[in-house]
Amino acid sequence: MKIAIIGAGYGGMAAAYDLKKAGHDVTIFESADYVGGLASGFKEPHWNWSVEKFYHHWFQSDSEMLELIRELGWEDKVRFPRPQTVMLYKNKWYPFDSIFKMALFPGLGWGINKIRFGFVGLFLRLTNNWRALEKVTADAWMMKWAGKTVYEQMWKPLLIGKFGPYYKDVNMAWMWARIKARTTRLGTFEGGFQKFADLFAEKLRESGVGIRFGVKVDSIKQEQAGLSVRSDGESESFDKVLVTTSPNLMARFCPDLPEKYLEGLLGLKSMGAVVMTLALKYPLSKDGYYWFNVPKDEGYPFLALVEHTNFVPKENFGGDHIVYAGDYLELGHEYFSMNDDELLERFIPAFQKFNPEFSREWVRKIWVSKTNYAQPVPLVNHSKNVPAIRTPIEGLFFASMSQVYPWDRGTNFAVEIGRRAARMMLKVL
Ligand SMILES: Cc1cc2nc3c(=O)[nH]c(=O)nc-3n(C[C@H](O)[C@H](O)[C@H](O)COP(=O)(O)OP(=O)(O)OC[C@H]3O[C@@H](n4cnc5c(N)ncnc54)[C@H](O)[C@@H]3O)c2cc1C
Repeated sequence: MKIAIIGAGYGGMAAAYDLKKAGHDVTIFESADYVGGLASGFKEPHWNWSVEKFYHHWFQSDSEMLELIRELGWEDKVRFPRPQTVMLYKNKWYPFDSIFKMALFPGLGWGINKIRFGFVGLFLRLTNNWRALEKVTADAWMMKWAGKTVYEQMWKPLLIGKFGPYYKDVNMAWMWARIKARTTRLGTFEGGFQKFADLFAEKLRESGVGIRFGVKVDSIKQEQAGLSVRSDGESESFDKVLVTTSPNLMARFCPDLPEKYLEGLLGLKSMGAVVMTLALKYPLSKDGYYWFNVPKDEGYPFLALVEHTNFVPKENFGGDHIVYAGDYLELGHEYFSMNDDELLERFIPAFQKFNPEFSREWVRKIWVSKTNYAQPVPLVNHSKNVPAIRTPIEGLFFASMSQVYPWDRGTNFAVEIGRRAARMMLKVL
């Protein structure tokens, strides 16, 4: 079969790997001039490692990702350091990277709230019944079972940070998935995520997969036999096509999809993200913390501050201290139209709250990455709204972050859905 894959992110590349192994003729169309999609990174000439445009790490439970790495023979390149995550309470940072440490968080007080927190955490870890949980919002479920104090101290800031105006609408299965599928140890690839993506692309190319960079697909049309993929005014025919972009783009590529499927794609909600990466001359965190959870109601202009060089040593970045400041935002938020310097001006007073000595002179360079499609928003009974991977058009398949539900998006699940789509294209599933 002649197969086209739209997108050289983790999902598209994982699908290409299996389809090629099964003996097919595979071509990937990628609009960027690099692989890796949302998990891609960049590098300064004096760095040995790349940094991700949007901070990334793996969990020890990311079995699909780690299994793929094992298959490729690179497991010795995976590192799992133990960086520290902290949460703010009354202007002080407290450890927040395990259920045990979270239980000691002073915001919970002593007594009944700690017990409720523990029971809720344990229940969510043990249950597999996410279908019951998706029928109710996380807001309502947590208020009922964890109680007002636990919910408002621990979980509500997370929901508000991730989903902004939709925070009250997100279903409880999303929260379950987060607690179920995450570990305290965090992993990365030697050289950074981009290194992994580049090595993977090289392996694909060696096996005969064609990767066309800088090619922006603009439509996919059904033909008498097969599908034609159109980009930059040229069309090419394929037997099967897998699209791995956002649901919005999928709807735009394929207006011939039946109305119900199109409506399903366009009805999905998601948040965008804006992340600033800074190369600093000095460390920002005096305590060596990696991940700072910043509750939005504390007035910070971002949701998370991540000192990457407290995870990956600064020696890999020529001595630069790498810090990310990021937020999930609705499209149309002012950050999407602000330039890099304006955004830095906005963020500087907040950096000074982390370290009063911080000044603009500390900043060697900044980069700002923006995406419209960063975080799908799962509403109540979301399983009914997840678009099918096999679309109603013969030979056309779709595998995106919005379909990995009930799991939350991540490279692990991009690999899983990419490989599942490949099996469906091969009619093994
Ligand atoms: C802020 C943020 C933090 C994250 N943190 C983590 C984390 O810590 N750990 C983790 O595992 N995951 C994390 N993720 C999620 C992870 O990046 C994604 O789940 C994963 O990369 C999705 O892969 P994908 O292949 O499905 O899609 P994508 O990576 O989006 O790939 C789609 C590809 O399609 C290409 N494309 C788009 N339009 C066209 C077109 N018209 N023609 C051709 N090509 C096109 C794009 O350029 C892209 O390369 C994070 C994401 C964000 C935004």
